[in-house]
Amino acid sequence: MTNPLIEAKNLRKYFKTPGGVLHAVEDVSFQIDSCRTLGVVGESGCGKSTLGRTVLRLHEATAGEVWFQGENILKYNRKKMRDVHKNMQMIFQDPYSSLDPRMSVYNIIAEPVNEICRKSYSKQEAEEKIRQIMELCGLPLRYANRYPHELDGGRRQRVGLARAMVVEPRFIVCDEPVSALDVSIQAQILNLLMDLQEQRGLAYMFITHDLCVVRHISDEIMVMYMGQVVEYASKEELFNHPLHPYTKALLSAIPTTDLSRRSRIRYTLQGEVASPVNPSPGCRFAPRCPYAEERCKGSCRLRKVAPKHYVACHQFE
Ligand code: SF4
Repeated sequence: MTNPLIEAKNLRKYFKTPGGVLHAVEDVSFQIDSCRTLGVVGESGCGKSTLGRTVLRLHEATAGEVWFQGENILKYNRKKMRDVHKNMQMIFQDPYSSLDPRMSVYNIIAEPVNEICRKSYSKQEAEEKIRQIMELCGLPLRYANRYPHELDGGRRQRVGLARAMVVEPRFIVCDEPVSALDVSIQAQILNLLMDLQEQRGLAYMFITHDLCVVRHISDEIMVMYMGQVVEYASKEELFNHPLHPYTKALLSAIPTTDLSRRSRIRYTLQGEVASPVNPSPGCRFAPRCPYAEERCKGSCRLRKVAPKHYVACHQFE
């Protein structure tokens, strides 16, 4: 059996706050193979972006392991990490604020080539590479001398994509890359991401709060609630047989035009969201869960309930 391209084991990220320790990411484990996409869904503030940043070491992990191409990169020093970042890139949610407004499109895309691959290419080779990646990402060369404020949202996101792709990474964390875009532009960017994945064998971690988007692009899906994974399954399993009460609530909130599905059960969440600062050891979803009972105060681990299906809920023990 071959190793996955990237694997996280019991990854944790805590932040010290004046009120105590904020458990932003708690014991998260996953695997992603080449050419596969892991969707990460959950409400704002559930820790999904922190998870993506911790995997790339933009945040230092509090504990756990991140294995990339068979090595634990959390043990790497700064110089070795720089080499790894050639293979691991990130695309951000807001293309406008993630691009330097003082730099031209050409220079934005050239920057990682100059920083990460300086020794690998001659000046001409680097220029050719930037031209090729602009074309691949659907950016006509006439945009090379434009600035981010002169582009629409879709083109700005294409610049972000070209900037990530130009160093030929093998793994990309896509942090809500389409949520700031119009629906028609969203589809263009998603299809471009999928085409590039097929052409280059890329692995994606795709972070979003939009279940329709995650259904379109993912192979496996991880549902996060308050820093923990509550359900992890193949896309088909998750959408056809959701088990965790939180996943059911998320799925039941997807709008539908299918009249036969209008009568489906709606799960409405009530109750207070618990605090992620110094959380109690029990199920963090309990204050909002209609099925909460005494045993839910005990710790709740992710368990395998079917092939390619894991859930963290005392109902399925
Ligand atoms: Fe609800 Fe208990 Fe399951 Fe948590 S463990 S989701 S409180 S039933």
